[in-house]
Amino acid sequence: MKKLEKFENLVESLSTLPSVGRKSALRFAYHLVLHDNFNAMKIASAIENAVRSIRRCSKCGGLSEHEICEICLDEQRDNSKLCIVENAKDILVLEENKLYDGVYFVLNDLEEGSISKLKEIVNSGVEEVIFALTPSLANDGVILFVEDKLKEFKLKFTKIAQGVPTGVNLENVDFLSLSKALSDRVKV
Ligand SMILES: [Zn+2]
Repeated sequence: MKKLEKFENLVESLSTLPSVGRKSALRFAYHLVLHDNFNAMKIASAIENAVRSIRRCSKCGGLSEHEICEICLDEQRDNSKLCIVENAKDILVLEENKLYDGVYFVLNDLEEGSISKLKEIVNSGVEEVIFALTPSLANDGVILFVEDKLKEFKLKFTKIAQGVPTGVNLENVDFLSLSKALSDRVKV
């Protein structure tokens, strides 16, 4: 007979989360099951609801509870500025800090499908394309590639300034560096 099979199952599930090792997983599981089971049920249901209802916006690729996300639908946003990010979660970081009032596009890959979606957005009145990518040589290549793909449009291309250290993901950049990087963006 397996001992505490269900508890062990919870520990194993928790330890699959990013930056949660077995020791933390054990601590969380113990806390949830023994000390705070009301909250534990709340967390379980919040996870289930979020997983069921969150999808990608069909326009920008950001997280959304609807076909088109609230940012894309928001008429107060400045549609002449388009910020290109690597991951949907980068949008959350930038939105959390309220640094930016334009629109976004998540560049998942450089396939024709993504590029034509990007062109469609650019074609609807974008004047400046801001690359908010993790600074790296590979991403400098991505910037050149995208710029070339968009050369038929009259655009200003900028990227976030070097306040963001090379190779550091946006979510790990502190608020001040990020806001400086965004306001001091440089021409590419
Ligand atoms: Zn959207």
